[in-house]
Amino acid sequence: MNIHEHQAKELLRRYGVPVPAGEVAFTVEEAVAAAERLGFPCVVKAQIHAGGRGKAGGVKLVRDAAAAQAAAKDLLGKTLVTPQTGPTGRVVRRLLVEQGVAIARELYLGMVVDRAAGRVAVMASTEGGVEIEEVATTAPEKILRETIDPVVGLAPYQGRRLAFGLGLAKDQVGQAVSLMTALARCFVESDCSLVELNPLVVLGDGKLLALDAKIGFDDNALFRHPDLRALRDPSEEDPREVEAAKHDLSYIALEGDIGCLVNGAGLAMATMDTVKAAGGMPANFLDVGGGASTEKVAAAFRIILGDPHVKAIFVNIFGGILRCDVLAEGVVQAAREVGLAVPLVVRMEGTNVEQGKQILAASGLDIISAADMADGAQKAVAAARRAA
Ligand code: GDP
Ligand code: MN
Repeated sequence: MNIHEHQAKELLRRYGVPVPAGEVAFTVEEAVAAAERLGFPCVVKAQIHAGGRGKAGGVKLVRDAAAAQAAAKDLLGKTLVTPQTGPTGRVVRRLLVEQGVAIARELYLGMVVDRAAGRVAVMASTEGGVEIEEVATTAPEKILRETIDPVVGLAPYQGRRLAFGLGLAKDQVGQAVSLMTALARCFVESDCSLVELNPLVVLGDGKLLALDAKIGFDDNALFRHPDLRALRDPSEEDPREVEAAKHDLSYIALEGDIGCLVNGAGLAMATMDTVKAAGGMPANFLDVGGGASTEKVAAAFRIILGDPHVKAIFVNIFGGILRCDVLAEGVVQAAREVGLAVPLVVRMEGTNVEQGKQILAASGLDIISAADMADGAQKAVAAARRAA
């Protein structure tokens, strides 16, 4: 789950990371009032779950109330297209109004989970304000790295090494080390998957400040953080993923046209591989889980049916704890409600498979049955080609 910049800064402030004074605004009036409280110059920033706003006109420096009003009017409701939003862009529904600052240097500081190292990695670079992916490809030597020992945490010497590498002056090193330590604590305690300050700035007076902040959390740990979970902004997320989360389904939208309904994450991944091996592309990853009820299966099937990219559906179930009859009832229920407009291929094995098949046969639904997984994948790919 990602959160907005203003929420990320609020969280960082609680951990003692220096951030600019600022207020969130949902209307032009709120933005102007916030600007007047903060004083001028101030910055009006579009809040969307994507970076690259600066270059797209989503960050405006304003010098008086009239300019703040004009900036807020322009940005609220606007669709902002940045390299990170994709061509459809994102609608700006809220703003962050912040005190303007005088910037001497723009640096980069990020933390991510490094899967290969099995640790949190800290990355720092003198090339702040630029997309770090670009730095990584054009000048990888400009990215400094440290990995955090999970027992010890970020050691002070690691912080100092990064601070010196960033070319910070002696009296800024202490500041940098405490900022990095606070950031690392926030990362671990909040179960983050990504924290990025781009830029982390050095001000005219030598102080460090997180001018931009992006935070992503590990969805699997959110149950431990109801306060963070409450920060979710569904308008920034894929509506099908939001619907799936409501039903506690593991669903991830993908680019292809074959909707997959599977039980078990391992089988779901194997199904996607098999679909690809048969020459097709899955439209989603969907694991309904072990103990799914008829209602849950119906919700999952409805989500797939609601995806306009889906040209065929492949249901691949190995009935264990999830019984085939329960699955079949869920599919029939959803298909009756929404209408089955695309070919449906079903491969079922395991507990109560005969009852499951009877329910599907009695439903009158036009179902293509598959002998095994590979057969099902091939039939789904062929059906999608015919439909396309
Ligand atoms: P992004 O483009 O979505 O990553 O948005 P950022 O929050 O990083 O802002 C983009 C750029 O706006 C920064 O790199 C800064 O150069 C500039 N900027 C943001 N706030 C201020 C400010 O208070 N003063 C000045 N002078 N520039 C700012
Ligand atoms: Mn930025």
